[in-house]
Amino acid sequence: MRVILNPKHAEHVPPGEMEGGAVIPSYEAPGRFEVIRAALEAAGGFRFEEPPKPSEECVTAIHHAAYIAYLREASAEAKRARDPAAKQLWPTVFPFGPNPRATGTRALRGQFCFDTYTPILPGTFASALGGASAAARAADLIADGAERNVYVLTRPPGHHAEHDRCGGYCYFNNAAVAAERLAKCGPVAVLDLDVHHGNGTQHIFYSRADVLTVSVHGDPAGLYPFFSGFADETGTGAGLGANANFPLLPGTGVKEYRPALAAAVEAVRRFKPAFLVFAFGADAHESDPIGGFTLPTKFFAEMGTAVREIGLPTVIVQEGGYNLTTLGACVTEGLKAIDAN
Ligand SMILES: [Zn+2]
Repeated sequence: MRVILNPKHAEHVPPGEMEGGAVIPSYEAPGRFEVIRAALEAAGGFRFEEPPKPSEECVTAIHHAAYIAYLREASAEAKRARDPAAKQLWPTVFPFGPNPRATGTRALRGQFCFDTYTPILPGTFASALGGASAAARAADLIADGAERNVYVLTRPPGHHAEHDRCGGYCYFNNAAVAAERLAKCGPVAVLDLDVHHGNGTQHIFYSRADVLTVSVHGDPAGLYPFFSGFADETGTGAGLGANANFPLLPGTGVKEYRPALAAAVEAVRRFKPAFLVFAFGADAHESDPIGGFTLPTKFFAEMGTAVREIGLPTVIVQEGGYNLTTLGACVTEGLKAIDAN
């Protein structure tokens, strides 16, 4: 399988994340990329390449121009800062009502972000754009018919990033970049099996009839991102019926996950898409520190088989997965099953 790498991932190195007022070690770290790459190299059968030079052109169709400019300029500001504390830009105040006069620096930190897990650092913009460019390249290879399946190995992840807000470690929505590009050639389904709801992807395509978004995840009543991912969110306007959520209880194991996966696959089939984007998180694994599900490593092969059996040209985009000991094996199992003959 061809693997498109984010060549800039290591420029984004979060010093920590903020949980309940305390800074704790960041789960989203460069080691995630490295263990996946090492596992794929050890398994064999994967060809690694970098995308062409990153360009903002690949994100303008799905992200607001002011948000893109904010990420670019805030990263540059962090890079210029001499004081180490000023090299991390965190929100402290979030919007409590729209106000066009709230244009100051600290207002924008909250306006363009929805949590305290997603700081802007000197390398954030370059790193996020590298991932988006890798996703665009993968989509182009699939749209051209050059490949049947292409995997995008990237971090930071993307599926929580909304049209104009970062959050959940995500800045640019890589799966949405791929879906948007493929949508020019035919209807697209995005299947998101990260343990967290893909709120950003849902948000970006919520009123679109040409892109179906389907997500199987932990019930937002108890799991991040809390504000979306409920079963009654089914799209709006022209997109009504083109969004499906399958929330599952904490502790979900194979027995509970299997029927939800089958229902999600059925929703994809009914839509009759021409292309599939698989937002592949490995944080539904039993050992994941922030997931809360109990799926064993070998179940990721079953996920991969379900994706393969949908029978569509597929872009696979790496999302979450935070146990560095098991992450590589989960991803390898999934990709091998997708590529099996
Ligand atoms: Zn996740």
